[in-house]
Amino acid sequence: MESPANQEVGGAPQLPTILLVEDNEENIVTVADYLTFKQYRVVIARTGLQALDFAQIRPDLILMDIQMPEMDGLEAIRTLRTMPEVADAPIIALTALAMTGDRERCLAAGANEYLSKPVSLRELTRVIATHMQQL
Ligand code: MN
Repeated sequence: MESPANQEVGGAPQLPTILLVEDNEENIVTVADYLTFKQYRVVIARTGLQALDFAQIRPDLILMDIQMPEMDGLEAIRTLRTMPEVADAPIIALTALAMTGDRERCLAAGANEYLSKPVSLRELTRVIATHMQQL
């Protein structure tokens, strides 16, 4: 007898889920395609507010753009850290306008890591893998 816990729907292995929070369509396509190729399941949110809605899917890791409409990445990170579903999920902040103090602001908001754009896909993948291993 197989226990229900061993039965995946469709028999497919469960891929680690990354919540990609990004408002730039070009970046979304580039990063999502690449991470899908690297065997991650990618869920996309286009604003900070949408990211909060996706907390309930319990992503294994969150990639957070900082410059976004509606609610910026810093505020989104602060709010996500108060939500039990994602309180412990690694958050990697990404910002295009690299300014002095960005890293400190992102880490103070609750991000685990900070990368300034443009980020190479290889570097991004390395950082993601590092944080996934620490789960
Ligand atoms: Mn942006």
